[in-house]
Amino acid sequence: MIRYQLLCEHNHEFEAWFRDSAAYDEQAHNGEVQCPFCGNDNVRKAVMAPAIATSRKEEVQNENQQVAIEAAEKAADDLRAGTDPHEAAQMFMDVVKNLQKHVEDTCDYVGTDFAEEARAIHYGEAEERGIYGEATPEQTEELRDEGIEVVSLPKLTDKDQNS
Ligand SMILES: [Zn+2]
Repeated sequence: MIRYQLLCEHNHEFEAWFRDSAAYDEQAHNGEVQCPFCGNDNVRKAVMAPAIATSRKEEVQNENQQVAIEAAEKAADDLRAGTDPHEAAQMFMDVVKNLQKHVEDTCDYVGTDFAEEARAIHYGEAEERGIYGEATPEQTEELRDEGIEVVSLPKLTDKDQNS
């Protein structure tokens, strides 16, 4: 079983369990996954904070970080493509752990001011640097809409819930 944090078209957030990621894809595609608040069936997966942002300039300079981000994205792709979930999850967690450590070493922690600070950096109102902190899925989406590079990471502690 796999638990997803989901968002409907109206940004209602809810949790649902599925047999596996393919079952989620199929049920979501067929409109069988409905928001418990409004019945909307246009749902998507919400990835929870923490999130990190880097300026493009710094990304080019910082190869390690780029490699780590790509590895995390690849692991996430493997997981979506139906690689053995335990194996893919372990690979993904390893990469995320490394990435988190790297982010903690090289980026400034800005906590819940993340969205505000990412914007300030993007528009040249704050010092250009990598930052990390907490953001809601809505904030992350707004930042991406404005062309700001944001990478969302799962909370590692989430896997210990519901066990
Ligand atoms: Zn809804």
